[in-house]
Amino acid sequence: MSHEIRTPMNAIIGLAHILRRAGATPAQAERLDKIDGAGQHLLSIINDILDLSKIEAGRLQLESANFHLSTIFDSVGSIIGEAAAAKGLGFDIDRDTVPLWLRGDPTRLRQALLNYAGNAVKFTEQGSITLRAKLLEDNNGVLLVRFEVADTGVGIAPDKMPRLFLAFEQVDTSTTRRYGGTGLGLAITCKLAQLMGGEVGADSVPGVGSTFWFTARLQRGHGMIPAAPAANEADPETQLRKHCGGAKVLLVDDNAINREVALELLYGVDLIVETAADGREALQKAHTQAYDLILMDMRMPVMDGLEATRAIRKLPGWATKPILAMTANAFEEDRRACEEAGMNDFIAKPVEPCTLYATLMKWLPQRPPGDTARISVSASMHPPQVRERLLRALGEFGGLDADRGITALRGDVVGYMRLLRRFASDHRGDAQYVRGKLVAGRVEEAGKRVHALKGVAGTLGATGLCAAAGALERALRTNDPAAASTLSSLLATLQAEQIALDGALSQIPEGPATGGEFAADPERVRAVLEQLEPLLATDNTEADDLFEDNRSLLLAEFGSGAMQLGRQMANVDYPQALATLQDLIRRGRGN
Ligand code: ADP
Repeated sequence: MSHEIRTPMNAIIGLAHILRRAGATPAQAERLDKIDGAGQHLLSIINDILDLSKIEAGRLQLESANFHLSTIFDSVGSIIGEAAAAKGLGFDIDRDTVPLWLRGDPTRLRQALLNYAGNAVKFTEQGSITLRAKLLEDNNGVLLVRFEVADTGVGIAPDKMPRLFLAFEQVDTSTTRRYGGTGLGLAITCKLAQLMGGEVGADSVPGVGSTFWFTARLQRGHGMIPAAPAANEADPETQLRKHCGGAKVLLVDDNAINREVALELLYGVDLIVETAADGREALQKAHTQAYDLILMDMRMPVMDGLEATRAIRKLPGWATKPILAMTANAFEEDRRACEEAGMNDFIAKPVEPCTLYATLMKWLPQRPPGDTARISVSASMHPPQVRERLLRALGEFGGLDADRGITALRGDVVGYMRLLRRFASDHRGDAQYVRGKLVAGRVEEAGKRVHALKGVAGTLGATGLCAAAGALERALRTNDPAAASTLSSLLATLQAEQIALDGALSQIPEGPATGGEFAADPERVRAVLEQLEPLLATDNTEADDLFEDNRSLLLAEFGSGAMQLGRQMANVDYPQALATLQDLIRRGRGN
């Protein structure tokens, strides 16, 4: 259900936000803010209820992983630290004698602690918050740890204490009105602690402060130095999402594959993006819509980027707004031409995500603090093993830097394969076309095609083709008739690279295509099977969801074998289902 509930909620919140940005009268803006506030509140209640019901249905399986205690505290600290600092509250951590390395479910532990810590900040006006961990028992590496959050806040009256950990209990409706909340945080922490073999409790003195605690059974863990936190505050991607998310960008590029790759990158940082396929369309859109920035390809049919920029600069409101060139022409003269046409900056193609983000960060207007963007489009990531297997499959082919191409698509392996196939088929006739144009003496048209090919090849990491097209482009620029034989050998190289790419792609069987999608991709099938196996082995009912989500994929690949698997799972006969699954996995490996 979670998806069905969250999706319309996100639409309500997101659209209110878009309406607000698009300009509203003060009265409308106030109402939109109320819709947004109510939506946010409802969403947090829904999230909590879904969590709680998952736990109550016994569907929450604890993870068992090695983790470093300080990563838990650091992460809680980084989430609530800002709010605490804004209220002038101190924030301390006391780790006592708890071993640094533990084994358990770090996500749930953090969630339990965060509920307490969030409340502590919410209900404290002055003083400080302390996070504590204490080792209560150590039986040969099996530990009982007590986690505490102490505050110097309003406290809780003794008669309210007994009902504190019940769902939807709030001590005082007036504070709730003031501070917000769902009344579910403590209930969730209580359930989580019980799942972890522990208990909860609280001590409080009204006007002095409260200490909330829970215990959890963990194991002594082991590991290496803690990894750096995933989202580095300083990296341009995080910065951009934080400060400019929700900004509206017009992306102008005539090549559909380039557009798709750029869209993936821009959506990934929560920008609102519209596209245009040539300069004229861009001009028309800039005339009728409000954008914060334009990303402009240079060479395009109908109207090129330079001409379009000159025309857009004359439109009202467009005298100074940022227009950035995106082009594979890295030559100084191109740079100057961009400047002269009124462009502000220059992003080289193939677009390198970090450079793109850093340049956008430089030019996009920053949101006023407090106005947070809420339209979040998550990247379509695939498990690392899918990526690895694909890389191995493509690894034989030297002319492809698949890793780079997949990175450009933010890890979307399936999307990458789809674009790569499309690229191979869209550009299959290029060498032929170029040869024809050269024979007819139409060097410029030949050059345009080669240039476009170079750009897309670079974006997708088709390094061999990109280099061949680059060499051909340079040769065409010199426009020396004596170089005819060089041209023809360069064209032959180009063609050879294309054939090699086709060959490499044909090594990776394409499943029965549904709507042009990469449906029964064997990599995906295998990934699903490998996720299913441990779930079935541990009687985890999440296996049902996974099977349902991938039913047609598995049916397409295994036919009656998948039907049998489905039947066994429906009968909750997990051991039999596991045996069937292992059989299918062996079949997938071809032995
Ligand atoms: P809520 O979302 O309302 O904070 P919780 O289940 O987390 O829901 O908390 C329930 C109630 O317990 C709160 O509304 C508040 O009245 C009280 N409470 C929780 N933590 C504290 C605290 N640290 N200090 C004072 N009161 C607290």
